Amino acid sequence: MTDTAVREIEQARNEITRLRLRTQPFIAGEFRDVIGGARYVTENPATGQPIAEVAQGGPADVDLAVAAAREAADDGRWSRMSPGDRKRILLRWADLIDAHARELGLIETIDAGKPISDTVELDIPETAACIRWHAEATDKLYGEVAPSPEGTVATITREPMGVVGAVIPWNYPAQMAAWKLGPALATGNTVVIKPASMTSLSLLRIAELGAEAGLPAGVLNVVTGPGDTVGEAIGRHLDIDCVAFTGSTEVGRRFLTYSAESNLKRVKLELGGKSPQIVFGDADDLAHVAANVAIAIFWNMGENCSAGSRLIVHRSRKEALLEAIEAELPRWPVGDPLDPATRIGALISRGHLERVLGYVDVGRREGARVVTGGRRILEETGGYFLPPTVLDGVRNDMRVAREEIFGPVLSILPFADEDDAVRIANDSIFGLHAGVFSADRERALRVARRLRAGQVDVNGGGFNLLAPFGGFKQSGYGRELGRHGLDAYLEVKSLQLP
Ligand code: NAP
Ligand code: MG
Repeated sequence: MTDTAVREIEQARNEITRLRLRTQPFIAGEFRDVIGGARYVTENPATGQPIAEVAQGGPADVDLAVAAAREAADDGRWSRMSPGDRKRILLRWADLIDAHARELGLIETIDAGKPISDTVELDIPETAACIRWHAEATDKLYGEVAPSPEGTVATITREPMGVVGAVIPWNYPAQMAAWKLGPALATGNTVVIKPASMTSLSLLRIAELGAEAGLPAGVLNVVTGPGDTVGEAIGRHLDIDCVAFTGSTEVGRRFLTYSAESNLKRVKLELGGKSPQIVFGDADDLAHVAANVAIAIFWNMGENCSAGSRLIVHRSRKEALLEAIEAELPRWPVGDPLDPATRIGALISRGHLERVLGYVDVGRREGARVVTGGRRILEETGGYFLPPTVLDGVRNDMRVAREEIFGPVLSILPFADEDDAVRIANDSIFGLHAGVFSADRERALRVARRLRAGQVDVNGGGFNLLAPFGGFKQSGYGRELGRHGLDAYLEVKSLQLP
C-alpha cells in the first residue's frame, strides 16, 4: 500500500464519529419512513454491536417504489432525456462516489466487516468505475439496419425494459449495487433495488449522491427490508419488467418461480460457485501459484461467489504446494477491519460463521484433515473471525467439495492426469469461474477451453472489470459488465418503414 493510501485510510477511521447514516428507504427522490414504521438493527460483524436501526420495509413500500419508478419510466424523464445529458449525470454520480470514498468505505467496513484497505481503496473506487464505464456507454448504443425489400427500411433498435427490480447480496454491497444500477440506468430504465438487510447503509448513501448528481426523482428507488417480504414482493410485482438477482442458488430458483407465477418478468441470475483451481505438475513457480490460490480463496473472507474453493493439484506437487500456501498465510492477517494492515475481516454474521464452521466439521467427519485454521478466533472482540482454513484429503464427492461454503475454506483434491483434472473440475453443479496453472501454454489453453465456466484465469490472470461476468450451469445465466452486460436490460424492437 502507498503512503497516501495509508493516510487516506487513517483519515477515514478518524471520521467514524462524524458519520451520519441514512436508514430509510429512498423513494421518489427522498428518504421516507416505511409504512408501519418497523425497524431492525444492523450490526458491525467485527464487534457484534449494533450500528443503526434501519427501516424495515414490506410489500406496501415496494408498491410505492414501483409506482414512482413506473411513473418515471412512463413519462420518459430519464429514458427520453438526451443520451449526452444522461451520461453527464451518471459521470457526476461516479465522481461523487469517488469523492466520498472514505465515508462510503468506512460505512461498508463497519456494516459488512470488510477490511478498510479494501473498501476505501477498491470497493468504492470500483463502484465508481463501474458507474463511469456505463455512463460512457450511454451515448454509444447504436442500432442496426436489417435487410429489407428495395425502397423500404427495417431498423433494429434496443429499448429500455421499463422498470427493473434488483436484489443484491451482502458480500460486496456497493459494488453489487453498481453492477446492476450501471447497466440498468445507462440503458434508460428506472430501478427499484433491495440491498441485503445486513448491509443496506452504503447503498442508501450512494442513492442520495445519485440525486445530488441529478438523477431525476423516481429513477432510482431503494427499499430496505428482508428478502422474504421485500425481495419476494419485487420478484412477484406485476409492474416490474425484469429482475436482476445476485445471491444463493436457492433464492435464485425462487425468482424463477416468482416470475412464472406473476408476469413472466425477465430474470437474470448470478448465483453461487465452487470454483476449481487446477495446478499442473509443471507449474514452475509455486510461490506465485500459492499467492494466487490464496487471493482466490481468502479475498473478502472467502465470501465471494467466484471463490476458488477447490484446489485441484497434481499429486506430485501437492505437498510442495501445501507448504507454499502455508508460507503465504502470514500475508493474510485476520483482525479488526478498521486496521489498515488487516486483510481478512469478520464474516458477515454469527449465523454465517456457524454455518462455515459447520462445514469444517462436515469435512472432518467425511475424512478431510484440517491443515490449518478451522476454529473461531478473536472471540473476545465479539466479532465473527475465522482464519484461513485448509482442508486436505478432500474427495470431490464430499459435501465440502460440492456445496458453496462462502468462507475462507480451501479444499485440496489431488489428480492423476489432465483428463482427471478436467473431469473433477467440471464435476459440479456450478460453473462460475476457474483457474489453471501450467508452464505449458498449450496445455493451459487446451484445459481452459474444456472448463465449463463463465470465466477462466490462466496462471493468475486476475479479475477484469471490463469483461463479462457470469456463470454456466446452476451458477445462473446472463452476464454482467462489458457490452454483454447491457443485454439483460434491453428489449429488441424491429421497425419496418415503407
Ligand atoms: P441469499 O439469501 O440468496 O440473499 C441474497 C439476497 O436475496 C438478499 O438481498 C436477501 O435478502 C434476498 N432474499 C433472501 N431470501 C429471499 C426470498 N425468499 N425472496 C427474495 N429475496 C430473498 O443469500 P444469503 O442468505 O445472504 O447467503 C446464503 C448463501 O448464498 C451464502 O452462504 C452463499 O453460499 C450464497 N451467496 C452467494 C452470493 C453470490 O455473490 N453469488 C452472495 C451472497 C450469498 P436479505 O438478506 O435481506 O434477507
Ligand atoms: Mg451490518
